[in-house]
Amino acid sequence: MAVSDHVNLEQFMAGVEKRNMGQTEFIQAVREVAQDIFDFIADKEEYHEAQILRRIAEPDRVVSFRVCWEDDNHNIRVQRGWRVQNNNAIGPYKGGIRFHPSVNESILKFLAFEQTFKNSLTGLPMGGGKGGSNFNPKGKSDSEVMRFCQSFMTELYRHIGPDTDVPAGDIGVGGREIGYMFGQYKRITNRWEGVLTGKAVEYGGSQMRPEATGYGAVYFLQNMLKHQGQDVEGRTTIISGSGNVATHAAEKIVELGGKVLTLSDSGGFIHDPDGIDQEKINWVKELKTERRGRISEYADHFTNATFHEGARPWRVEAELALPCATQNELNGDEARAMVKNGVIAVSEGANMPTTLEGVDVFHDAHIMYAPGKAANAGGVAVSGLEMSQNSERVSWHTERLGDLLQDIMKDIHEKSAEYGSDEDGGYVNYVKGANIAGFKKVADAMLAFGVV
Ligand code: NDP
Repeated sequence: MAVSDHVNLEQFMAGVEKRNMGQTEFIQAVREVAQDIFDFIADKEEYHEAQILRRIAEPDRVVSFRVCWEDDNHNIRVQRGWRVQNNNAIGPYKGGIRFHPSVNESILKFLAFEQTFKNSLTGLPMGGGKGGSNFNPKGKSDSEVMRFCQSFMTELYRHIGPDTDVPAGDIGVGGREIGYMFGQYKRITNRWEGVLTGKAVEYGGSQMRPEATGYGAVYFLQNMLKHQGQDVEGRTTIISGSGNVATHAAEKIVELGGKVLTLSDSGGFIHDPDGIDQEKINWVKELKTERRGRISEYADHFTNATFHEGARPWRVEAELALPCATQNELNGDEARAMVKNGVIAVSEGANMPTTLEGVDVFHDAHIMYAPGKAANAGGVAVSGLEMSQNSERVSWHTERLGDLLQDIMKDIHEKSAEYGSDEDGGYVNYVKGANIAGFKKVADAMLAFGVV
């Protein structure tokens, strides 16, 4: 087929929309990647002929299952669970598990699709997957969470394995949930193997895994700034979220001499003009992972801080921004307010937190903007290193893992800058760079396999 006979971007997207009716997040994620890939493959006949992009945008499989569990009042509760195995061209499927009432098939398909490019960017042998449930862990007792996790794993275990698919944590799934699920996997299969990452260090987890996503997002930010001869030190920073990624991103910003002004949760955001220092971050970690409280309590405890109910932190004046809560939490208007307020760089700890309109605003204003698939890849990279340690039955030291994380983030920055730089080498479009660098490795592996 001649290159000119190929479908164009809009025809391709019309097909994606028809096949995935109503799956808005998935369609949004595919469009964001497709617009860059179409330019890249315009003169590369082999990718067209093998329908590579169409194949990556169709998950290898989507498993959906019932999760039945009993609450503390002996009521039988029914939830839905999923595992989306998007692509395993370059390694076993790998990606987190999310427990949140908003979880649906579209969100998990978007996350598994994105994960495929992210995992490729890390340079480690990992394919892309994602899973989860519409279970809401908020307000549940430890025993309820345990019974749910056990029931979830009772179905999931048959679809995963250390060389097949290796899930990890994500929103609503931290160390506690991974522990319950790993225990159940071991009980069912009678095998101790690295089938989940994000485990506690006592039973095969990796040093640095909890910190890796947040620290990695700041390392990426640091690399972007350095590329333009700038630095984190002395700069004000707005951060959303108050979970694993947000608190560790805040920690690294503080360590590098930056000042963190905000954190948030689904109830609103807190603004602390004095700066959220390490002691305050530790308080938030305890609030969120042990007391399981709300971020509004911060403003009761630290009296100079204010709580803004139902709002997001993007209109607070600052120079750096790290969206670290959830998808589509930063829209076009908020992006415009940030540009007006003098934000110079945005690094996404969360997955797809900025809407397509917001991304356009950042690009038009030539703001340094790092998409989640590049900036938050540090988490899955250390997960990949956890898999290696489990296979070797060894435990690496924190220093070694910290150095590896920094090297991997530097390398992802370099690859993204290489493919994302404009003609005169001035502005770097990191979205384009990450999409192309991530795509190329997966696409070339698929070409090698022929039509499978
Ligand atoms: P956590 O569950 O630890 O924290 C999530 C945070 O986001 C909480 O503060 C939560 O508030 C907030 N949040 C969740 N949903 C919403 C919503 N609809 N509106 C506003 N705030 C919301 O999750 P993580 O920190 O692990 O994950 C955060 C993001 O980072 C996600 O996009 C995830 O996919 C991404 N990510 C995580 C990785 C990891 O290693 N953990 C790796 C790569 C990406 P509340 O407590 O009110 O729910």
